[in-house]
Amino acid sequence: MELNASAKLMFFFLCENCDCAGFWEINIKEAAYRMALNEETVYQAFRDIEKCYVRDDRFCAIVSFLHHQRNLPLNPENKAHIGILNRLISHPGLYEALKIRWESKGYIQSERTLWNQAPSKPLQRGYGKGRGLGDKGSLRGKPHLYPIPGRNCSVPGCGMPAVYRNSSGTYDTFKCLEHLPEKVKAVYC
Ligand SMILES: [Zn+2]
Repeated sequence: MELNASAKLMFFFLCENCDCAGFWEINIKEAAYRMALNEETVYQAFRDIEKCYVRDDRFCAIVSFLHHQRNLPLNPENKAHIGILNRLISHPGLYEALKIRWESKGYIQSERTLWNQAPSKPLQRGYGKGRGLGDKGSLRGKPHLYPIPGRNCSVPGCGMPAVYRNSSGTYDTFKCLEHLPEKVKAVYC
């Protein structure tokens, strides 16, 4: 992708000013001020790099950010990743969009499973042959946990976004990444 100088500058600005998960709250006016460019130029630059991010009305998320920081795939057992995962889970729509882009770019393995049912046997772990991407370290055969919209962890005092539903038959309990049952961690983490 050929980018002009303003577009490149805009991309660097996003990388410098985003949070740990690659999110930037879209504010063209502030970006223009900080880069000493006029708003029209910045708006155009932001449009020119639209392939580099996913966005909603308020935030954009840089697609390659976590990959270039060698943080993909994310691992809930890794303390440094928990903050990133909580950011992602608090933006479920963008997280979904990011995962689709990460899969298509080969940053994470394309393996969608019915994650909210505790598997009774270990899932196939396809380590594969790297699919000729040259960056085999970023591929791992673990399924991913997905946020459950509108549900929070049921551990008293926690209240973090839930990623796991446990159905006992009469009622459901929900757990966040940190409070996953051990048998679930064994499969997903
Ligand atoms: Zn919790």
